[in-house]
Amino acid sequence: MTLRLIRGFRTISDDAAHALSGITPIDLDKKGKYLASEEHTQLEIREWIRGVWQTRWKESQRGRWTYKLIPELTEWADCEHKTVDYHMTQFLTDHGCFRGYLFRFRHVNTAQCLYCTDAVETAKHILLHCSRFVEERAQLVALAGSPLSPRGRVAAMMAENPKPKIAWDGAHVIIVTMMKRVRKDELANRSQSEL
Ligand SMILES: [Zn+2]
Repeated sequence: MTLRLIRGFRTISDDAAHALSGITPIDLDKKGKYLASEEHTQLEIREWIRGVWQTRWKESQRGRWTYKLIPELTEWADCEHKTVDYHMTQFLTDHGCFRGYLFRFRHVNTAQCLYCTDAVETAKHILLHCSRFVEERAQLVALAGSPLSPRGRVAAMMAENPKPKIAWDGAHVIIVTMMKRVRKDELANRSQSEL
């Protein structure tokens, strides 16, 4: 996963992009190099960076959906079986084909979900409430073995036991299917309104 992939959507905040990519923010990286020259050990420096970075992530005003999913940077960074592609980036950042996002950036004239009354279409809505995805939601609950929550969903994907890769890949496939459907519906709606 690279910063460039995460930055596929230029509107994604620096804080969320660094959290997802695991690439140390440049100022902390520089400070780390300075501390190394002051004869601190690599372990001390790494722990210092992680501590400051974690506090910054917790207190940031930006990337709050991503924070809800991934509050602990170390846990995310240490999860070796995760894979994040274009569709997962959209889901993890709430930046993408969601009408809530498109409305925010003036690409559509309402944030309302095409399928649900009085609901803004966001990643959270897609995951927890949208009437379009009853089946997918049931599959995600079955995979996690517990009720759905944003934090719980990603935590289940990151879990080490019993079969980490299967937990991640299973949920990944379902989330990609949902994201593709959101995009397809949005494009269909757009071409219909242009007729
Ligand atoms: Zn909906």
